[in-house]
Amino acid sequence: MLLSPLDQEHFADIRDGVRRLCAEFPGPYWRELDARREYPTAFIKALTAAGYLSVLIPEDYGGSGLGLGAAAAILETIQAEGCNGAACHAQMYTMGTILRHGSDEQKRHYLPGIASGELRLQAFGVTEPTSGTDTTALRTTAVRDGDSYVVNGQKIWTSRAEHSDLMLLLARTTPRNQVAKKTDGLSTFIVDMREVLGKSLTIRPIRTMMNHATTEVFFDNMRIPAQNLLGEEGKGFRYILSGMNAERVLIAAECVGDAKWFTRRSVAYANDRKVFDRPIGANQGVAFPIAKAYANMRAAELMVHEAARLYEAGKPNGAEANMAKMLAADASFEAANVCIQTHGGFGFAEEYDIERKFRETRLYQVAPISTNLILAFLAEHVLGLPRSY
Ligand SMILES: Cc1cc2nc3c(=O)[nH]c(=O)nc-3n(C[C@H](O)[C@H](O)[C@H](O)COP(=O)(O)OP(=O)(O)OC[C@H]3O[C@@H](n4cnc5c(N)ncnc54)[C@H](O)[C@@H]3O)c2cc1C
Repeated sequence: MLLSPLDQEHFADIRDGVRRLCAEFPGPYWRELDARREYPTAFIKALTAAGYLSVLIPEDYGGSGLGLGAAAAILETIQAEGCNGAACHAQMYTMGTILRHGSDEQKRHYLPGIASGELRLQAFGVTEPTSGTDTTALRTTAVRDGDSYVVNGQKIWTSRAEHSDLMLLLARTTPRNQVAKKTDGLSTFIVDMREVLGKSLTIRPIRTMMNHATTEVFFDNMRIPAQNLLGEEGKGFRYILSGMNAERVLIAAECVGDAKWFTRRSVAYANDRKVFDRPIGANQGVAFPIAKAYANMRAAELMVHEAARLYEAGKPNGAEANMAKMLAADASFEAANVCIQTHGGFGFAEEYDIERKFRETRLYQVAPISTNLILAFLAEHVLGLPRSY
């Protein structure tokens, strides 16, 4: 059952292809990985081989250059089919910082490998234990020394670091008290982790409530060639920010996909399950929450499309990207909660996959940006209310 007319109007062929691929990776595949907290290597290989992870890379560099709408359709479909794109979404968009701010040489050096999957750029090192959402308070430093930078510090929640060759790293190159604006003095680097892992770079996995391959990473006098600096020294915060709207749209698309999966499951079960000699869906107390979750999913879906449309047209989409992310994360979590309720006790049984998807979709109330910070952004930058922090 398709839950939105947009499924047929918007990249229908790509959605069909992704659906066929996902059919090879059914519930038991994800359940077993979840129990062992293992990375879905076979699934990622299949997506890479089919070219789905390189749609945002221009054809000149080996990708298909299809744009954000296609990428959103792919990730949404992965989620709607019960799979989990969190294991690979960063391979799609993290390279955008290189594409927009890298030198020609850096683009030629990295992008074709990322497009083919030979080079995995899945790790994005921004968050630190002490700074949290206040990114400019980060403490990791990169100090120029001849032809290299020497990096010291720590990141947390660096997802997929163990399954990545490269990391996009944000570090402070000028102390915060020596810059006019706290957003200055931060720089972005491409770290080739293969060269430093186990020496000056240590990765420690963090076990979380869902299977997410997230880690903390430690830099101990880690040397990176100066040529791995992206763009200008001290301007890195802007470069990272410029990629965040794309990330928010894509994660919002994943949440819409999750909401579709939960709602499809809720409808099927509410029609099928008979209690008191009639389908439970005949009770409005069961049907209405499903209908409401559906309406909220559709509204979020439209905002995702609007945010992607503006992005592709080269127009500002900060407000729409943030609203899409918040509305979609709320819609997916509402649909997840309703799905558990509809299934009664069976919603808690692992073999139904609902509790797993419930845990997975809960993340998006917090990451990559929490709901409060989105509301703070809208209040200040869209509505002109006083800054709250
Ligand atoms: C599984 C997982 C994977 C992640 N992957 C990555 C990754 O790959 N790379 C990366 O860099 N980061 C990653 N993150 C980090 C993620 O982006 C942060 O957890 C998120 O931005 C919130 O930051 P924090 O955890 O430090 O919370 P904090 O900043 O400590 O905030 C805690 C709570 O306080 C609220 N709060 C804080 N300040 C305000 C305020 N001014 N007004 C109102 N409320 C406020 C927040 O909304 C939040 O609910 C990941 C996190 C998780 C859990």
